[in-house]
Amino acid sequence: MIEVHDLHIWGLSTSQIALTAHLVRVDTGDDQAMIDAAVQGLKQKFAIDHATLQVETIASAEIWALRPAHVV
Ligand SMILES: [Zn+2]
Repeated sequence: MIEVHDLHIWGLSTSQIALTAHLVRVDTGDDQAMIDAAVQGLKQKFAIDHATLQVETIASAEIWALRPAHVV
C-alpha cells in the first residue's frame, strides 16, 4: 500500500468507531490479503471494528488529479 485517501472516521456510539478509506497499491495483486491486514491493524492499534475499505491501483486512483502540482 502506498497511499490512503478519502479517510473518514466517526463515532457510531460512545464505544464504537467507524472508518472508510481508499487504499492505493502499486499494481494489482491480492486485494483481500491487503484488506485483511488493514482491518486487523485497525482493530489492534486503534480498536476500530467497523471499517469499509476500497482498493485502488495507481492507474485507477484519482490521487494524481486531486494533488496540487507541487506534490505530484
Ligand atoms: Zn480513491
